[in-house]
Amino acid sequence: MDEIVKLLDHNLNYVSHELIEDTMYITVESNREKMRCPHCNRFSNKVHSRYKKSFKDLPIQGMKVVIVLINKKYFCKNVECDHTTFAETFDFIGKKAKKTKRLEKEIINLATNVSSVAASKFWRKNVVNVGKSTICELLKKNANNK
Ligand SMILES: [Zn+2]
Repeated sequence: MDEIVKLLDHNLNYVSHELIEDTMYITVESNREKMRCPHCNRFSNKVHSRYKKSFKDLPIQGMKVVIVLINKKYFCKNVECDHTTFAETFDFIGKKAKKTKRLEKEIINLATNVSSVAASKFWRKNVVNVGKSTICELLKKNANNK
């Protein structure tokens, strides 16, 4: 399981997993000891708190996957920085996103080949609840990034 988690990001450690109905909940935490403050770019190793956030990822063996991340919040130790704390971030997910980037990519790949209604049907059957409007939003977002 740790290997699967590391495929998402090598900075993650596997903690535990639980299967509830058709969904696998995988709890992970960061193995980083320090992080750069995104506001002043200085490193901090002083952890303020931890909180959980969850998001959807690619299915595994026909099961829906929800990643539960124990995310760290750090103190910024730079007295000149106008932020006292900042949250740990990862490359595999956007700041406010509810899906991993690799899942979004798969959704976009499929939706560019079939209609969004057909794509939505496919994803519902194939283990991720993705609505037509979500697909349209992702396509729009993707078009804007080009
Ligand atoms: Zn700072």
